[in-house]
Amino acid sequence: MSTEHFSVQPSIQPLADNLRDDILANPGFGRHFTDHMAHIRWTSSADWHGHEVRPYGPLQLDPSAAVLHYGQEIFEGIKAYRHADGSIWTFRPEKNAERFRRSARRLALPELSDDNFLNSVKTLVSQDAHWVPTPDSEADESSLYLRPFMIASEAFLGVRPAQEVDYYVIACPVAAYFKGGVKPVSIWLSSHYKRAAPGGTGFAKCGGNYAASLLAQQEASDNNCDQVAFLDAAENTWVEELGGMNLFFVFKDGRIVTPRLTDTILEGVTRDSMLQLARDEGLTPEERAISINEWRDGIASGEITEVFACGTAAVVTPIGQLVSENGTIEHPEGNAVATKLRKRLLDIQYGRAKDTHGWMTQLV
Ligand SMILES: *Cc1c(COP(=O)(O)O)cnc(C)c1O
Repeated sequence: MSTEHFSVQPSIQPLADNLRDDILANPGFGRHFTDHMAHIRWTSSADWHGHEVRPYGPLQLDPSAAVLHYGQEIFEGIKAYRHADGSIWTFRPEKNAERFRRSARRLALPELSDDNFLNSVKTLVSQDAHWVPTPDSEADESSLYLRPFMIASEAFLGVRPAQEVDYYVIACPVAAYFKGGVKPVSIWLSSHYKRAAPGGTGFAKCGGNYAASLLAQQEASDNNCDQVAFLDAAENTWVEELGGMNLFFVFKDGRIVTPRLTDTILEGVTRDSMLQLARDEGLTPEERAISINEWRDGIASGEITEVFACGTAAVVTPIGQLVSENGTIEHPEGNAVATKLRKRLLDIQYGRAKDTHGWMTQLV
């Protein structure tokens, strides 16, 4: 597939340096966006065209645009990291590009080539390179979060896959996802709500899955929990994942278990990387079904020594409590394995450790 050229239209009103520095000093998560965005348009007659990087700003959408009515949308999440020498890198972008194509197929959207995906990210990060935070220590987990997404923009209320589609990449500097450093989070086990069902869209990264998870997340908050865990829809027995993170269970004999991939589980890039890093550390990864009873009993017996969640935004986050209508199960403190794997991953991403698996791609 040929590499398309992106035309670049620089912003005539980029944010002033001192205001940008204020944001970079305290970016939060997903609040402040860079000066530019990447865009490619697709129509059924002209395929992908009009590759551009242009000033960040509101989209003009017809009120009848299909995405507003039928939710035909997919997205990705990937970060750009500044290394000590000033260069800027991203982590396994080919995995995100491939998943974006898989999500597109499920949502009946056109597939974007991996070249277009990577070049859109590269061109945007080059243009907004001064928005990539410079970490001042190992504890500083700031980076530039990139959000590629694709929407059905055709103005048409008929129910069928749209014939006009737009792809964008926006970017925002981010600090650590959970404020106040790595501390274990509490998990609410939703007894009623389901995130995904067999044959549905659970394996695709689409806004609809998140829309379906919000009420369960609110239920979690109402019960003073940070995140919600979902069980499978068919048997209400098997642990699947959180609303936006995959789960791992560390056993005292060195096994490390994560639910095997089905069409109801999102295949996380972090999940895949954890499986490899765990193997590197001499642990024995297992991808298999794990029931809510095995989770509860494993903590009670001491067989399970740690549980953690992982994803691009929050990296690796230990779980401190499992809360449900049946009460609270406290998890052991320590989380040595999660802490070690987390550091291994961050050291590779920030260029502090050798990239033995060839995971890093230089952007700038
Ligand atoms: C994005 C996402 C994850 C984590 O995937 P990463 O590639 O590791 O960021 C896990 N679960 C869901 C539902 C997600 O949307």
